[in-house]
Amino acid sequence: MARYTGPVCRLCRREGVKLYLKGERCFTAKCAIDKRPFAPGQHGQGRRRNSEYGLQLREKQKARRFYGVLEKQFGSYYEDAARRQGVTGENLLQILESRLDNVVYRLGFAASRPEARQLVRHGHFTVNGRRVDIPSYLVKPGDVISIREKSQQVSRIKDLVEAAQGKTVVPWMELDLASFSGKVIRVPARDEIDVPVAEQMIVEHYSR
Ligand code: SF4
Repeated sequence: MARYTGPVCRLCRREGVKLYLKGERCFTAKCAIDKRPFAPGQHGQGRRRNSEYGLQLREKQKARRFYGVLEKQFGSYYEDAARRQGVTGENLLQILESRLDNVVYRLGFAASRPEARQLVRHGHFTVNGRRVDIPSYLVKPGDVISIREKSQQVSRIKDLVEAAQGKTVVPWMELDLASFSGKVIRVPARDEIDVPVAEQMIVEHYSR
């Protein structure tokens, strides 16, 4: 269950967009992309030549980094998306949105996807009453994601739940803070996924 462990603000600067990988810090003046809005490295401020391939690659990398997925798993998601009925790019985003770490983040039980991933790995959540500690677990409509009873007393989780009060969640999920849980109502439509990725370019990248 490998994951990227390098500096994350670099990834935002490379993609030229906020990927919101650091939670609260992303909304402060300390955000690296606000301070240095150019690509990292010696040639980061140099002229960029964008070939068609380069643009498609960037879209793929951006999507991968948004969701914290490594290359091999992203490729498997693409294959799965291509096998499903419907529009491949949309299917791909729907699969990525169904990951348990993303759903935990969307419900407001974590400040960022990386934090959600860590909390899931530490076994703080159940899906339909059963403990699941696999961040890539794919949830389905009807699934109920809850914070485990013991974990409800963890101070970081208490803070996150308190911060989630009064916030609205994405329309394809329901949040019930009283029972420390949320429910997936349906698969999200494309316009309900606010990730700024041109998924068609990812499809073109893999179809080369
Ligand atoms: Fe990206 Fe957040 Fe770092 Fe800003 S603070 S560069 S949004 S990870």
